[in-house]
Amino acid sequence: TFMAKSMPSSVPPLQCGRSEEIDRRNPIFDPHKIDSKLVQEMAYDALVWSSLRGLLVGDRNSQNSGRVPGVGLVHAPISLLPTPFPESHWKQACEVAPIFNQLIDRVSLDGKFLQDSLSRTKKVDAFTSRLLDIHAKMLDDMKKEDICLGLHRSDYMLDEQTNSLLQIELNTISSSFPGLSCLVTELHRSLLHQFKQHLALDPGRIPQNNVVGQFAKALAEAWAVYNNPSAVVMVVVQAEERNMYDQHWLCTVLKERYHVRSIRKTLADIDAQGKLLRDGTLVVDGEPVAVVYFRAGYAPTDYPSESEWKARLLMEQSSAVKCPSISYHLAGTKKIQQELAKPNILERFLENKDDIEKVRKCFAGLWSLDDSNIIKDAIERPGSYVMKPQREGGGNNIYGDDLKLALERMEKAGNEENAAYILMQRIFPASYPAILVRDGISFKDNVISELGVFAVYLRNKNKVILNEHSGYLMRTKVSSSNEGGVAAGFAVLDSVYLV
Ligand code: ADP
Ligand code: MG
Ligand code: MG
Repeated sequence: TFMAKSMPSSVPPLQCGRSEEIDRRNPIFDPHKIDSKLVQEMAYDALVWSSLRGLLVGDRNSQNSGRVPGVGLVHAPISLLPTPFPESHWKQACEVAPIFNQLIDRVSLDGKFLQDSLSRTKKVDAFTSRLLDIHAKMLDDMKKEDICLGLHRSDYMLDEQTNSLLQIELNTISSSFPGLSCLVTELHRSLLHQFKQHLALDPGRIPQNNVVGQFAKALAEAWAVYNNPSAVVMVVVQAEERNMYDQHWLCTVLKERYHVRSIRKTLADIDAQGKLLRDGTLVVDGEPVAVVYFRAGYAPTDYPSESEWKARLLMEQSSAVKCPSISYHLAGTKKIQQELAKPNILERFLENKDDIEKVRKCFAGLWSLDDSNIIKDAIERPGSYVMKPQREGGGNNIYGDDLKLALERMEKAGNEENAAYILMQRIFPASYPAILVRDGISFKDNVISELGVFAVYLRNKNKVILNEHSGYLMRTKVSSSNEGGVAAGFAVLDSVYLV
């Protein structure tokens, strides 16, 4: 490792090939071969850029950094240069985004499918059970959501052996980094431009990224459809949030470009300050709420007491647009992902054969744990699988020996505990040399990447107002690490260099 420090350099340019066929063992350019003085110079400039342009997170070493904006800021962990990614797979991920949006929307409308698919999970997973209770109550009350807003991010890895783009998961709640991902793209473009005589990489090969604008537009349109000019967008937040600048970027664009005001409230605040008017209007702290945008509420730790569950129910019962509604939230669970991958299930929700084919092509192997052949194989070859509970936010999956032991234990116990999990084929992307920058220090490592494609969906009754892919997030992690969360400390933010 070396500290970033500004130093002039004069090294010959690294060539970047643009051939259609890339040999994955011979990356188009090797950042590890970049002269170390040049690396230091680029890293220094990247740190200055990040500080001045708000590519920031709260510093975990600073006490109030998750509560008070402007206190204890540090640059977001980043890859110094964008990661090469095949243009064809890039296009595939963008093209399939509106189809996945439609799929989620259709699945959300089938309350029985959601309840039935998660019925076994409900018995052993207290958190999912509470979500299902709220969902069941809405079904009983015949509550209908006229306005549906989805701000989604579908994540993929490129499996090296089969050269196929396979979906890791689709996030329907709290899809993070609409703000910071745009900034990383801008940073990389500016670095390639600034150092072009040394790098010979074309900034134009980094696709434009305007998630923050697209998400703000979708929130503003949902707000407009709700049609109460005095209402606000309410961001549901955790009491402590070090990724607050990502959220503030979105709210700032919403305010500056669309003149829509937002408030930030925790679930506990909402329980204390929230009420429903007779017409269903949600009022929190004296403000009518048009749109509830969840950046919390996806993890059991977000509900330390009954108070938070009361708040979740109150919001669901209201007429406010929920992003996501309880049914969108459930449609994004790993169990539903696995159910949708079963034969003939997609056909229940999508009509167009081409669309079905495109979606199915992205599915990795997915199994429920009542499949004894798969359990047997997973115990023999645990490295080929990932075991996932119904959780979000990273750090929850089980791999390798732990997976084997967990399966053996559950087999012996012979109870329903296994219904809490799904099994997934482990995807192995090609690894690349990269330079990562964290806490002001740059270091070389071999990395693998996960591409997230953002998409917005807005429907008012039968009218689909928005359904489009809306930018991307590349997350890159050292290839020896299992998990991928940036906030969880495993990965760095990155962008895409199309090859
Ligand atoms: P979460 O909702 O917590 O983000 P994910 O399904 O995205 O759960 O899993 C977290 C991380 O684990 C991913 O970002 C990825 O790095 C890794 N991962 C998940 N599924 C697979 C898989 N099938 N193959 C390889 N890595 C995976
Ligand atoms: Mg997730
Ligand atoms: Mg994930």
